[in-house]
Amino acid sequence: MPLDTEQLLETCDGLKQVFAKRAPKYDLEASFPVENYQDLREAGMMGLMVPESHGGMGANFYQYTRAAGRFAQGCASTAVSFNMHNIVMGALAEADLSGVEGRFGKIMKDFQDWAFNEAVAGKVFGAALTEPNVGFHPGSLSTTYKKVEGGFLLNGKKSFVSMSGHADYYVVAAVPEVQPGGEVPVVSWLVLPKDDPGIEIESMWNTMGMRGTVSNNMKLTNVFVPRNRLFLGFEGLVLQKLANEPHFVVGGFTACYFGVIEAIYNFTVEHQKRRKMAGKETPLIENEMVQTRMGEMSVQVEAARQLVYHAARMVVSDRGSKETNAAIHRAKYFVSEMGPQIASMAVRACGGGTISKHLPMERFYRDIRCCGLMPAKSDECLWYIGKEAFGIDINKPSETYW
Ligand SMILES: Cc1cc2nc3c(=O)[nH]c(=O)nc-3n(C[C@H](O)[C@H](O)[C@H](O)COP(=O)(O)OP(=O)(O)OC[C@H]3O[C@@H](n4cnc5c(N)ncnc54)[C@H](O)[C@@H]3O)c2cc1C
Repeated sequence: MPLDTEQLLETCDGLKQVFAKRAPKYDLEASFPVENYQDLREAGMMGLMVPESHGGMGANFYQYTRAAGRFAQGCASTAVSFNMHNIVMGALAEADLSGVEGRFGKIMKDFQDWAFNEAVAGKVFGAALTEPNVGFHPGSLSTTYKKVEGGFLLNGKKSFVSMSGHADYYVVAAVPEVQPGGEVPVVSWLVLPKDDPGIEIESMWNTMGMRGTVSNNMKLTNVFVPRNRLFLGFEGLVLQKLANEPHFVVGGFTACYFGVIEAIYNFTVEHQKRRKMAGKETPLIENEMVQTRMGEMSVQVEAARQLVYHAARMVVSDRGSKETNAAIHRAKYFVSEMGPQIASMAVRACGGGTISKHLPMERFYRDIRCCGLMPAKSDECLWYIGKEAFGIDINKPSETYW
């Protein structure tokens, strides 16, 4: 039976309430939300994107968008780090292998089955895709792999690895030591277990926002990856996939950060309702200026919602089209750029008390600023949207900055 969106959101709302209580501690300590992950596991959420045929919930991208937003309302660090797991599971769930036959088909299906089984059993997949001095641009990576007996040997350095030390597996993006040539560079994903002796985590995570994601640097020295841990069994799928279907990487983050915007909005409404005019019994919300400011926020929040949900629905109905991909980038741009402005409006509207750590607003303010740092950056989003407007094929990797 298809997953019921309302039922899913009911479960997410329960988790959201618990996450919200724990969020200040993880934020203060910049520690990983271990208890939240235990709750996510117990609720079967590691299998959220895994098809029902493989024991998962089989959420589509719209349902995922809604669920991620709810988690982020409670704890943005939990939602954004969990998004890494879903980038991996979503990409796998979308790989339709029904028509792939023969030895190659078996390799792909075996990989997919293995990853789905691990996720349904509660295992968490992180994604180590970014590099120092490279950012999130797989076409320019310096982490390399070379073929050896039975698999690959991996060397390099990654940055911003969310869930570092906590994920059960890391999906690492790397390029072959020698590129074979061709129009599009070969970039592959390889899967490592977290306790591989060649993995070294450099604990340096102490940031302005998203502190609970624990996104440290990772050094990889002569890490052996068996042949059957090459993602979906073949090399060079990453750039094509990113250009054609950027929604999981780009839209997943947008979904999480839109959740922070909703939390800011909800906080502002409730906070303002409790206040009275100075020295009077009159509720503050009877003041026209206060109402107008709320109206201004409401317009921006609703515009963000429409862009985010519209793009997510387009993924469900028309995945991978240029129009869908432009919609994904429009939503990402708007949430990245308008989110911090909405947070600023909220602080102005609610007043000085909101900068206290006793209230969640100052955490929202710091967290929402991080949206624009995640791929695709705002300038890149505008660039792709502009290209699409001029009829340029943004689904060609050479037309992107991946
Ligand atoms: C909380 C958090 C969690 C994260 N978790 C993960 C994770 O789990 N896994 C992962 O792989 N990554 C993760 N990331 C990394 C994220 O995906 C980004 O890649 C990362 O923030 C890189 O940022 P950067 O600013 O160094 O990138 P850059 O791409 O270097 O961008 C910096 C600035 O320079 C500009 N710029 C860059 N190149 C050019 C150019 N050629 N011309 C003009 N302008 C240019 C950009 O537009 C931008 O304004 C995380 C990031 C954050 C903030």
